[in-house]
Amino acid sequence: MHRILDHPAVAEYERVLGRETIKRAINAVFDRARFSLDEATLPAIVELVIADLELRSLRGLRSAINATGILIHTNLGRAPLAQAALDAMSDLGAGYSNLEFDVDAGVRSSRYERVNDILGDLFDGRDALVVNNCAAAMMLVLDTFARGKDVIVSRGELIEIGGGFRLPDVLERSGARLVEVGSTNKTYITDVQAALTTQTALLLRSHTSNYRIEGFVHPLPGRELAALGHRVGIPVVEDLGSGAIVDLTEFGLPAERTIGDALHDGSDLVVFSGDKLLGGPQAGIILGNPSFIARMRSNPLLRALRVDKMTLAALDATLQLHRSAESRRAIPIYAMLATTCDALRLRADAYVKAISGVRCVDSRAFVGGGTLATNDFASVAIALPAAHGTDIARQLRRASRPIVARIESGTILLDLRTIAPADDAAVIATVRELIG
Ligand SMILES: *Cc1c(COP(=O)(O)O)cnc(C)c1O
Repeated sequence: MHRILDHPAVAEYERVLGRETIKRAINAVFDRARFSLDEATLPAIVELVIADLELRSLRGLRSAINATGILIHTNLGRAPLAQAALDAMSDLGAGYSNLEFDVDAGVRSSRYERVNDILGDLFDGRDALVVNNCAAAMMLVLDTFARGKDVIVSRGELIEIGGGFRLPDVLERSGARLVEVGSTNKTYITDVQAALTTQTALLLRSHTSNYRIEGFVHPLPGRELAALGHRVGIPVVEDLGSGAIVDLTEFGLPAERTIGDALHDGSDLVVFSGDKLLGGPQAGIILGNPSFIARMRSNPLLRALRVDKMTLAALDATLQLHRSAESRRAIPIYAMLATTCDALRLRADAYVKAISGVRCVDSRAFVGGGTLATNDFASVAIALPAAHGTDIARQLRRASRPIVARIESGTILLDLRTIAPADDAAVIATVRELIG
């Protein structure tokens, strides 16, 4: 054990992983095969131990470079935060704050009030509640209004999003009963009307985030659902998922239903994620009717779903940036959306000049995060020479700061839209080292 522990190549890992981890790696190697430890086998054992340590050192949480061209990539941590959000987290995290304290009256107050003013300003004076994520928001809504009762959903909207979040399962877990209406491709308001009973507690509309039904279709119109809910006195809730805050046509993308659209159509409650199109931290935001929000505020379940000060700090700073189109560009995903292909080609030149054999090619980027699932938009990528095969993608992922590339028909592409310009030099250096 000591001879391996003290081997210089192994000892190098001690600083990062610690001695205990190295001992575990050595034991793991000996568990896999019995070695007789002598001068002849030592180098082979050291090599196996290093391979094990290398894998262990890749497992911890660390910063990566997204070269996939998918702006909101759940596996890569969704929306990168704006500098203002990072500053706010650093400020609040380093000291004390008025998180649950009314500094004017000198008495205890609620953390949930901290972002209400800004949300009210951005969304037409609606009341708001912030929880851990959009899934938690849905659980809170269902638990508050529909436990032991019926929730009507169109068959065209029974979604499964990533990570096993299936709307029918979430409904079941919350103790609500799912009442499916209509068909996969067509649901009319009369289908909802026909399913109403004294047990109906909620009318739910869900954004079909990651799929599209095309052709002979009639999705249930939000406005008609809201009007029906109001007529019969049943709350209408819309799970928007990505929660478009602005009209994406501004960036040359197809129109996506916005939070404002859902509120304008008359939904009583709208829920969406903080780390998708909002470009902020992981959070679930519930907007809408003050009396419904008040009922959720007094639900004991809220305590288990509550957000911490860091989330509120980052969320508040991000929401402030949404006050104008100009300040919004300081949010990384909006900067990426607004970048022209000409600007990307200029950056591509630096790659082509510095690395022999790579080419600048037209590429297609995706918003991701359950937004416009079937629509891509123009981007620019660096194509690595085919001669190096696809194993290079694995080597890029193993860089000290992993680079996650896209592989398209066997070609490795580095899409420049999602690589921060400040990271160009690091990407160039890594690629040069691998294929130079
Ligand atoms: C992404 C998404 C969710 C889940 O959001 P989280 O913030 O990850 O919990 C729920 N519903 C829809 C429609 C979504 O797109």
